[in-house]
Amino acid sequence: MKIGVIGAGTMGSGIAQAFLVAQGYEVVLCDVTKQFAINGKARIEDSLKKQISKGKMEQKKAEEMLLKLSIGVKDQLEDCDLIVEAVPEKLDIKREIFQSLQGICKKSTIFTSNTSSLSLTEMSRDLDRAIAGMHFFNPAPIMKLVEVVAGQNTADEVINKIISVAKEIGKTPILVKEGAGFVVNRVLIPMINESIGIYAEGLASVEDIDTAMKLGANHPMGPLELGDLVGLDVCLAIMEVLYKEFGDPKYRPHPLLKKMVRGGLLGKKTGKGFYNYSK
Ligand code: NAD
Repeated sequence: MKIGVIGAGTMGSGIAQAFLVAQGYEVVLCDVTKQFAINGKARIEDSLKKQISKGKMEQKKAEEMLLKLSIGVKDQLEDCDLIVEAVPEKLDIKREIFQSLQGICKKSTIFTSNTSSLSLTEMSRDLDRAIAGMHFFNPAPIMKLVEVVAGQNTADEVINKIISVAKEIGKTPILVKEGAGFVVNRVLIPMINESIGIYAEGLASVEDIDTAMKLGANHPMGPLELGDLVGLDVCLAIMEVLYKEFGDPKYRPHPLLKKMVRGGLLGKKTGKGFYNYSK
């Protein structure tokens, strides 16, 4: 089976790697330009080197994996059986890509998107096939879960095929019908937002809120630490999608979250969020 991954950034390169590790799959990794795809391949090579140096992978296996990877731009996706789209979280960009892919790929090619929050049904509008969600988590080669998302018109056979592919690459798929945030983000991001509220009300310190959830709820990481890791801009974007879709005040993004994003305090990626990473 040949897999096409479009968007060779954080998620696309991780997803390509997850398919390569499983072996038995040829993977074509594409981006806007070949150079961007080369950067994606370099990210995979770096990750494999780290695993080799830790003794978690043999050099030979890494070399074999890389032989199954080709890179390029979307025209090279013509003979792929399954596409996983991982371009930025913008409906227009994703729709444009699938519009052009339906003229490039086979009629039987399954289209999936790694979107975290957008409507697959809307993404599929005016296309000759319904797109399904194949939502990997970061880092994709390591995280076990894949949310397989059925849009309004996604056929059962397509969903079943995606579930079986996800299992073949060693993931644990769960099936979820389309709904903003699917399962994980609908639970997780409001929890981070609520923790921000507790902090903003002056009820507990950042460290104590994180300690509370680690020791009291057995979470491996505290919610504010996690918000910093995910990126507070990403958390805000997801809260806004939930709020807009459901119109329920329980999804109101906390004003402190908005203020921190406006001030460029996005978490680990900018060196400062609820914690300071610049030290
Ligand atoms: P990213 O910015 O790291 O990568 C996006 C890539 O898409 C870039 O390499 C960019 O050059 C490329 N791209 C942009 N326009 C393109 C086009 N027209 N054709 C081909 N390539 C194009 O983004 P990311 O963090 O990897 O996120 C990608 C998707 O995965 C988003 O939908 C996001 O919501 C979702 N997602 C992200 C995470 C995460 O933790 N980062 C987790 C789960 C899902």
